[in-house]
Amino acid sequence: MTCFREESNKPHFVLVPLLAAQGHLIPMVDIGCILAERGVRVSLIITPANADRIKPTIKRAKEANLAIEFVELSFPNVKFGLPPGCDSIDSITDRGLYRAFFEAIYSLDEPLEAFLGSLERPPDCMITDMCNGWTGPVARKFGIPRVIFHGPCCFYISTDYNLVHHKVYDSITDENEYVIVPEFPIKLQVTKNQTPGFLNSPLFEDMRKQCLEEELTADGVVINTFLELEQLFVENYEKVIGKKVWTIGPICLYNKDFEMKVGRGNKEAIDQSHRVLTWLNSRDAASVLYISFGSLAYTNPQQLMEIGNALEALNKPFIWAIKKIEMKPEVENWISAGFEERTKDRGLIIVGWAPQMVILSHQAVGGFITHCGWNSLLEAISVGVPMITWPRFADQFVNEKLIVDVLRIGVSLGVKVPNFANEDGVMVKSDDVREAVCALMDGGFEADERRERSNDFSDKAKKAVEEGGSSYMNFTDFIHYFTEHQARSK
Ligand code: UDP
Repeated sequence: MTCFREESNKPHFVLVPLLAAQGHLIPMVDIGCILAERGVRVSLIITPANADRIKPTIKRAKEANLAIEFVELSFPNVKFGLPPGCDSIDSITDRGLYRAFFEAIYSLDEPLEAFLGSLERPPDCMITDMCNGWTGPVARKFGIPRVIFHGPCCFYISTDYNLVHHKVYDSITDENEYVIVPEFPIKLQVTKNQTPGFLNSPLFEDMRKQCLEEELTADGVVINTFLELEQLFVENYEKVIGKKVWTIGPICLYNKDFEMKVGRGNKEAIDQSHRVLTWLNSRDAASVLYISFGSLAYTNPQQLMEIGNALEALNKPFIWAIKKIEMKPEVENWISAGFEERTKDRGLIIVGWAPQMVILSHQAVGGFITHCGWNSLLEAISVGVPMITWPRFADQFVNEKLIVDVLRIGVSLGVKVPNFANEDGVMVKSDDVREAVCALMDGGFEADERRERSNDFSDKAKKAVEEGGSSYMNFTDFIHYFTEHQARSK
């Protein structure tokens, strides 16, 4: 652990990501680095296996002399019956262990208290993931102002908040029945199945309740989005939650050069990155289709082969990210028995972690089939890549509506029910994938307009994080707000 305790004149923020999923950890690490660049001393709480994944970022932060320390708390795997080295939910194959995994996370309050107790003075602010309800009592014990970090966009958070607050689901009899989201700026219809809310299973009821209560008592909220993208929904959330909301994104744009993009999230991508870059450099502008379903959702062999058939029929260059866990023998055999050979002049399969930011930000990429995780969407928005949407679970169905219906920068594959582990076999036929890709990438009035809108949002995203931009200014205001709070309470 690097220690910056001597820099006591700097404001000090402690960051507690949800140490369960890359989609929660990655943006928090970016926030930590941005804060450190903006003159804040940062302590980011992490566990050993997660620290190992983001080793390149930790190394770079040290080399750049950023005032960020990565505080490793040991993860109690054995105590909670979890496999060794499993600090993240993507390393759990037995879903029966999810509850034990979250209990292990919720038991980190003691080591966090020990760390905070070792400091000369309490930090000025704690930024904690919405799903970390356990950090509320810790922050109160040390008198630390606490800000919630929400991973998704305001469009989703506001939807979820309004549905819960108005108890809309109490009166439904069918989880596939459409309901109208109350107190929302536009008419939005969702089903409970599509929008169950985070941690919403009887197994997690106590934790969910605690998180919702802690959201209400927090001192503010930071969100990875930008005003020019969804101002109506930011204002709606700010109004219903009744507290300060700082939009500070897209924080992925902090990663400017190749090294930063490659090292982001998982050191595994480094091995692939030069091969990927050389391959992309040889392609025409906006010609490549990229396919990835994020870090958690997985796709069964039949569905993978269905996607593969579409890629083959399309005759377009593609980069296809397939998770190691998805590479079952039948998939491997199918790839090596002909698919690879038939697409070798135009296809690149990445098995394992793909350097997503390197791929999306390359000018050769012209379309993205995505599961609609908010980080992935915002990464594509930041660089002006239009999308084909295939939501799988959590916030993703609502995010899809923002992308397709409101911002009009995506084409939907029409999936209506959750399919986290693709339990129901083939959900999307190869012909549907093919048609959507043609609609997105083969030109024509609608496609051109969509691409133009995507480029326009990309320009606005970049401006938002530049000096003087809305997110840049919000960052400044956010830091001052808590620095002054500390000064006032002295
Ligand atoms: N990601 C990546 N390579 C992969 C898979 C995911 O870099 O092979 C990154 C992606 O860029 C994003 C995050 O992991 O930053 C995934 O977050 P998202 O919210 O999109 O989806 P989740 O995985 O949480 O469902």
